[in-house]
Amino acid sequence: MTLRAKILAVYSGMIVCLIAVFYSATRFILLASFTGIEEDRVMRNMERVGSALAGEVEQLDFITRDWAWWDETCAYVAGRDEGFFRRNLNDVTLGALKIDAIVFVDPAGRVVYGTGFDGGAGAKTPLPGELARALVPGGPLTTHRDPRDRTAGIVALPSAPILIASRPILTGEGRGPIRGSLVMVRSLDSRMIRSLAAMTHVSLVIEPFRSTGLGGEFLRARSELLRSRADIVRPLGREAVTGYRLVPDIAGTPALLIRVMSPRDIYMRGLRTLHYLAASMLAIGLAFSAVFVVVLDRVILSPLGRLTARVDAIATSSDLSSRVKMGGRDELSRLAGSINGMLVALERAQEVLRRSEQDYRALFDNMLTGFAYHRIVSGADGKAVDFVFVEVNSVFEKLTHLARDSVVGKKASEVMPGLLRDDFDWIGMYGRVALTGATARVERYSSYHGKWYSLSAYSPRSGYFAILLDDITGRKHAEERMEHLTRVLRAIRGVDQLITREKDRGRLIAGACDGLVKHRGYSHAWIALLDDAGGLAGSAESGVGGGFAGLVERMKRGDIPDCGKRALEETVPVTVADPPSSCPSCPLATAYKRKGAMTVRLGYGGRVYGLLSVALPPGMTADDEESALFGELARDVAFALHGLEIEEGRSRVEASLRRMALDLKRSNMELEQFAYVASHDLQEPLRMVTSYLQLLERRYRDRLDPDAADFIRFAVDGADHMKRLISGLLEYSRLGTGDRPFAPTDCEAALDRALANLTVAISESGASVTHDPLPAVMADAEKLVQLFQNLVGNGIKFRREAPPKVHLSAARSGEEWIFSVSDNGIGIEPKFAERIFVIFQRLHGRDDYPGTGIGLALCRKIVEQHGGRIWVESRPREGSVFRFTLPCDRAAAAGGGTGWAGSGR
Ligand code: ADP
Repeated sequence: MTLRAKILAVYSGMIVCLIAVFYSATRFILLASFTGIEEDRVMRNMERVGSALAGEVEQLDFITRDWAWWDETCAYVAGRDEGFFRRNLNDVTLGALKIDAIVFVDPAGRVVYGTGFDGGAGAKTPLPGELARALVPGGPLTTHRDPRDRTAGIVALPSAPILIASRPILTGEGRGPIRGSLVMVRSLDSRMIRSLAAMTHVSLVIEPFRSTGLGGEFLRARSELLRSRADIVRPLGREAVTGYRLVPDIAGTPALLIRVMSPRDIYMRGLRTLHYLAASMLAIGLAFSAVFVVVLDRVILSPLGRLTARVDAIATSSDLSSRVKMGGRDELSRLAGSINGMLVALERAQEVLRRSEQDYRALFDNMLTGFAYHRIVSGADGKAVDFVFVEVNSVFEKLTHLARDSVVGKKASEVMPGLLRDDFDWIGMYGRVALTGATARVERYSSYHGKWYSLSAYSPRSGYFAILLDDITGRKHAEERMEHLTRVLRAIRGVDQLITREKDRGRLIAGACDGLVKHRGYSHAWIALLDDAGGLAGSAESGVGGGFAGLVERMKRGDIPDCGKRALEETVPVTVADPPSSCPSCPLATAYKRKGAMTVRLGYGGRVYGLLSVALPPGMTADDEESALFGELARDVAFALHGLEIEEGRSRVEASLRRMALDLKRSNMELEQFAYVASHDLQEPLRMVTSYLQLLERRYRDRLDPDAADFIRFAVDGADHMKRLISGLLEYSRLGTGDRPFAPTDCEAALDRALANLTVAISESGASVTHDPLPAVMADAEKLVQLFQNLVGNGIKFRREAPPKVHLSAARSGEEWIFSVSDNGIGIEPKFAERIFVIFQRLHGRDDYPGTGIGLALCRKIVEQHGGRIWVESRPREGSVFRFTLPCDRAAAAGGGTGWAGSGR
């Protein structure tokens, strides 16, 4: 219903109600007033009728008094005037008096005379019996106590009511005594009633009160009058109004029922006025309504309609940037302003909502997990039987290959009919979640999708559930792969442990095969060893079974299987996905059914020792990592084979070395023996040469010329030098014989002894020899003294002009001591650094510096015998530093105290 229609309906209703209320009020007031007037008039009419009736009675009473107070009447009653009637009461007189009966009663109450009179006929009639019975002696009509007594009124005779008046009969002056009573009667007949009606101008009906022939209206009025005794006014339809009055008789009992009827002209006029008023009000109302509608339309409805249309247009277009235009400064324009304000707020709110929606959508779509929202569908028993997709995100689409548009709003049974037949009761689980609010987390393989899923389900509201889905197929495969690789690694570790201790080639390869199969890393394994010519040199297997014998036979004939041939050419393992199909002739085809195989050559250091082949567990394929691991394993086995080969070679070399060492030792000993014998045996002839030369000089000094004496001296010098050489050589050769066991030796003590031996040289040269703290070592003390003596002696001997300074020190380096003997002497050219340690090698002539060239050779031999090495660091004229090493030794350190002995001097 439009606002216009509503306003019109309300307004019309209001107008109608107003008119109705006004009409009702007016009608009530006006008609009540008119009815009052009407009632008053009826009452007045009844009063008039009553008055007229009373007037009739009064008139009858007056006539009666007139006739009663008359001497002639007195005389008549007293019986003394017989002509009274003749004179006074003839028919004419009676007709003029308009009475219907006259009765004379004596003082005793007896009727003296009475006659009726028919006015119409103008003749006397007998006194009606009912009237005579009404004149009871002693009653008010027949007996008067006082001259002023009077009885006048109405008496309801059974046949008809009458007006009756009774006066005491008195003298003409109205004095007594009372001679009787005069009663006059006038019938209240239709004639009188008509007369009364004419007199009062009303429609009049008079009925005896006790009448049995009364109509319904009269009966009701009579009973009401009996109750209330008051006049009644009652409308009789729209045309007339009636008034009822009770008229008592002379005894005061109800005698007559008067009904006065008046036309309702006042009332009807009032009604008409009312109708005119209502009609004019209606007309005015309609006119006002018309004006109101026009004004309303102009001022409110049309602008409101335009406003509504504009708002509708905005609502239809959903363009919240539109605005409503409305001129003026009334409420509608303010409403338009408010709507615009609301549109602005809505626009902002929509923007916020849109952003929030975008954020939500972005969050939803960019989740790294598949998300789907569903409504559960329950059966008649309340159990979940299906579910409907409400929303899914893009990751879900990708994971399940179910496009959003093709699933949203649809049932799972339509979209994924196979899901209901899946091994896992997905619907049951979802039903529990959606209907009980429980959560669920599962990792399941869906045979429908052929994938492993990690799935969490929860219910945000009853009857609905959401799932978070991750494809963990990769992870599961990786776990399986990891498990497999772990077994492979365990197998490899077992094999590695085996090959480090196993020295037998046959047991090595058999153990390797067993190890590979034992930990279920591989189902079968075999190794074939090949010789340089490619022939089979050995074989082992584990788990392969009977087919391996056939393979061995083939390889013995030099027929290597295809995979083996390829593996021999490749450095990396050769993988065969399905050996039976790619290599049907292989004797292992049956054993390798549904299993991949890897074959790799056992190569190390450019040498190929054979082939290693394994079968993968069913359903497993080898990846790069496993291939690399397998390659490593093959290298380890090959390395072990290589080690065995090297071991065999080294044993051979060691044996020959041992033989060579023995030969060398023997030849050395022979050489030393020779040197010893030679130097020992040479000493005697040399001594003889020297002795005879000295004898010759002594005996023949005078006979020899100076040259001969010089020659003899040269010969003696040469013999001396030779002697020194021979004794040096003897000393050198003796160094290797009669070795004493090493003992903890204090180097400082050894140095002290060496310096004691050098006392002369030191004092002659003015040398100063100093040293830092020196350690104790395991050594032959005598040799150590000789070592220090030679080095310090050389430092003094090969001095320059300045007094020689020799300093000794020792520093630890790892497991050895490095000793340094430095001097400030002539120095050595670096190119001679090696040569000076060779026996008999000297850099100077004997004239410059005496010596035999054996000292440093001895030093090197002593140092090397103690497990050390010796070298020199020097430059000419810059002094020399001779360094040698000796091993550190705990025992020596313990024996020598802290390892350091003595202190610098
Ligand atoms: P000798 O001392 O008997 O000559 P050595 O074997 O002791 O024999 O020395 C070999 C040579 O090394 C010496 O002739 C000398 O030339 C050189 N030499 C040895 N010690 C020193 C030194 N401290 N300073 C310079 N030269 C030296």
